[in-house]
Amino acid sequence: MWLQQVVWSHWKPWPELNNFFMRDFSSLENELQEIRRLGRYRSLRMVAGVPEAEITIRGQRLINFSSNNYLGLAAHPRLLRAARQATDAWGTGSGASRLICGNLELHEALEAELARFKGTAVPNARALLFNSGYHANIGIIPALMTEGDVIFSDALNHASLIDGCRMSRAKTVVYAHANPENLAQKIREHPTARRRLIVTDSVFSMDGDWAPLKEIVETAERSGAWVMVDEAHATGVLGHQGRGLVDHLGLSGRIELQMGTLGKALGSFGAFVVAPAPFIEVLINRARSFIFTTSLPPAPVAAALEALVMLRESAERQQQLHENIRFFNSGLKELGWGQEDAQAPIFPVILGDEARTMEAMERLWEAGIFASGIRPPTVPPGTCRLRLTVMATHTRKHLEQGLEALRYIKKLRTAN
Ligand SMILES: *Cc1c(COP(=O)(O)O)cnc(C)c1O
Repeated sequence: MWLQQVVWSHWKPWPELNNFFMRDFSSLENELQEIRRLGRYRSLRMVAGVPEAEITIRGQRLINFSSNNYLGLAAHPRLLRAARQATDAWGTGSGASRLICGNLELHEALEAELARFKGTAVPNARALLFNSGYHANIGIIPALMTEGDVIFSDALNHASLIDGCRMSRAKTVVYAHANPENLAQKIREHPTARRRLIVTDSVFSMDGDWAPLKEIVETAERSGAWVMVDEAHATGVLGHQGRGLVDHLGLSGRIELQMGTLGKALGSFGAFVVAPAPFIEVLINRARSFIFTTSLPPAPVAAALEALVMLRESAERQQQLHENIRFFNSGLKELGWGQEDAQAPIFPVILGDEARTMEAMERLWEAGIFASGIRPPTVPPGTCRLRLTVMATHTRKHLEQGLEALRYIKKLRTAN
C-alpha cells in the first residue's frame, strides 16, 4: 500500500514530462542549421591540465598558440601558493557582493596595489575591481553614459566594449579603426552633448595592433572628451613592470579610465579600472555589474597580487615574451604574414573565409599546433583568420615548429 502510494506520487508528473519531450524546439534547430550553413558553428573543446605552452586536447599533445596566459603565470608555483593560502585563510567564496559583506581586506589590498601600479601619474587615483573584463566594460560605460551623451567607439573594439555601449542609453558613434582623423571629425560632428567618451582597446585583441593613443588623447583634450582604454592585452605585456600601453607611451596622467584584466598575462581572473576618485565613487554607486554580483573569491585576488609582486621583482618574463614576439614575427614576415614591427603577442594570419580558416586550423592541429580559427561575429566578415599568440614560456623549438606548420599552410594555399 505504502509502496503503491510512492510509485503513484512519482507517476503523476509523467504527463507533464511527456509534454516537455513533445514540445517543439524546431526554431532553435533552424537557428543552429543557419549557423552551420554560414560555417560559424562553435563547440567546446576540453583541455586537460594547465594552460601552458603545451596542452592536451582529446588526448593529443599540442603546442599552444591560443592562450592569453602570455607570461606563463597561470600555473606558476608562487601564484598557486598565494591562491592556496588565501583559500585556507578566507574560504573559497566571498559570500556576498562588495557593498553587502563581500568586501574583503584582500580586495582592498589589490585595489591599492593596482592604483599604485597604473595610477602613478593620475591625481587622486583609485582602483576598482570587477569580476571579469566583460563585467567591467558592461558596467563602466552605462554607469557613466546615458541619454544625451555620445560615445566614440573604435570599429574593432572588443565585444564587451560594444555591449557596454549598447547597454548605456547614449548615442554610439563608431569611428574608423585606429584612425584619429576620423575620430576628430566625428567629434566635431557632435559638438553638443552632456558627456563625450572615447573608448578603445589599447592592444586590439584580434589584430595585435596598437591604438594611436597619443593622437586620441590630443583629440580628446582639444574637445574635452574623456578617454577609456581597455588594456586587457597590454597589462603585464607592455610598459614599465607591465603597466600597459598607456604607461609605455607616457600617457598615464592624461587618460581618465584605464581598464585592465587579471585573467590574461597576470595569470589569474578578474578585472580592474584605475581612475580619479570621483569616477570610482560613481562606479561604486552606479555600475550594475559591480553592485549586483558576488565579489571575487579570495584565491584569484591573492594570485593577482602575487603576479604584480613578480612583475615588480623582475622584468625577465616580460623580456623573454618580447624576444619570442620578435623571433616569431621575423619568421612570419618570411611567409608574408608578419608585421612591420610587432610589439604585442597577438598574430593574425588572415585567410578570408570561414571554411578556409577552419581547414587551416585542422591542418595545424594535425601538425601538433593549436591555433584558434576566428570567425564573425568576433571579426568582420571576410577577415576570418588564425589567431596565434606567443607566450614567454614558448621555447625556441616550439616557435620553430609553429612556423614550420604555417609554412606548410602557406604552401597549400599557393598550390590551390
Ligand atoms: C578578454 C578581453 C576582455 C574580457 O576580459 P575577461 O576578463 O576575459 O572577461 C575585455 N576586453 C578585451 C579587449 C579583451 O581582450
